[in-house]
Amino acid sequence: MRKLFTHINTIHGIEISPKTQLKGTEMGQISSIQDAWLLVENGCFAGWGSMESIDLPAADQTLSLYGLEVLPGLVDSHTHCIFAEPRSSEWEMRLKGASYEEIAAAGGGILNSAARLREMDEELLFEQSLCRVQRMINHGTTTLEIKSGYGLNLESELKMLRIARRIASHVNATVKTTFLGAHAVPPEFKGRQEDYVAHIINVMLPAVCREGLADHMDVFCDRGFFTPDQTLRLLEVASNMGLPSKIHANELGITGGVQVAVKAGSWSADHLEHLGDEEISCLKNSEVMPVGLPGTSYFLDIPYAPARKIMDAGLPFALASDFNPGSSPVCNLQMVWSLGCSRMKMLPAEAFNAITLNAARSLRMETATGSIAVGKRADFWTTDTKNAIQAIPYFFGINHAREIYISGNKS
Ligand SMILES: [Zn+2]
Repeated sequence: MRKLFTHINTIHGIEISPKTQLKGTEMGQISSIQDAWLLVENGCFAGWGSMESIDLPAADQTLSLYGLEVLPGLVDSHTHCIFAEPRSSEWEMRLKGASYEEIAAAGGGILNSAARLREMDEELLFEQSLCRVQRMINHGTTTLEIKSGYGLNLESELKMLRIARRIASHVNATVKTTFLGAHAVPPEFKGRQEDYVAHIINVMLPAVCREGLADHMDVFCDRGFFTPDQTLRLLEVASNMGLPSKIHANELGITGGVQVAVKAGSWSADHLEHLGDEEISCLKNSEVMPVGLPGTSYFLDIPYAPARKIMDAGLPFALASDFNPGSSPVCNLQMVWSLGCSRMKMLPAEAFNAITLNAARSLRMETATGSIAVGKRADFWTTDTKNAIQAIPYFFGINHAREIYISGNKS
């Protein structure tokens, strides 16, 4: 089946020689073509060219995208979009001056979300989480990751991961799942953190792997959560069971998370609001993708990951939403793109590459998606916003996506 899209104002994010990721100054580059056609064959990109060419390729179906601009599908590599309800009462506490850590220590935060999720009926949780994923897709996201971590016991962690797999079978977007049992210590293990780590290793991880419910392992390695030593042990066991890792690191302080990610060979280290020179040189000797989550910094009013410093060191950098009910209730990667620019001083092209190719790399999916390249899945979206790469992050807070195509089909 060959589909030809014609009369496209501009196609952005083209790669003739696909790269695995973009580092340092490469992140400012985007290839595009104006007044173009785009060919999709059997769900994958098969070519593009100028409408001025004499012979357009033959196709079974031809669709005009007259005047629209085309961008590759966005990749959200870090989300917690399965949750019971937003933590809006805690938000009011924060507005009155309480910190995220103070609220967490008082049993709020992740533990509050866990209590609500454990109570919630699986079918209802599935239905409302599916709606959220559909909303993400409507904003241009065509590949996303979903973490567990609000169950914090075997039954509820499995419930979350089963729902994530069910969502994957209900949407055309690609959904990857991550086991985050080590998100916080649940109340039944209060004061016995080591016992909980042992429980994850001996009971939860084997069950998750037995059911094939997770594609990755994650640990919240930070002050007041899990130590670098515990994180490393958890990641090593997961790796032996075939699960690669992506971790939460350095959100609340310089706490050794980056070093653990490098040592464990994690695919990504996410958050990085606190990052020193030592962490940056450590990342330079690794294949770990640094991932910033500006929605969290915005909503919690905490520092942003030093994107410019990371890119100036010649490193790659990705952005994700961290979509969750307490610290980053944003499902819209266009908004994350804008925050990357306005708050982290990334140029529009750099932040675009951070939510496409580099985000795909952080999931090791760069050969399948993240740009418009021959052989990659034909995931793209259209917009009537002119000069899209600059104008989308500029006019923040609205949805610029007009139509979403996944594997070449309108979603
Ligand atoms: Zn997170």
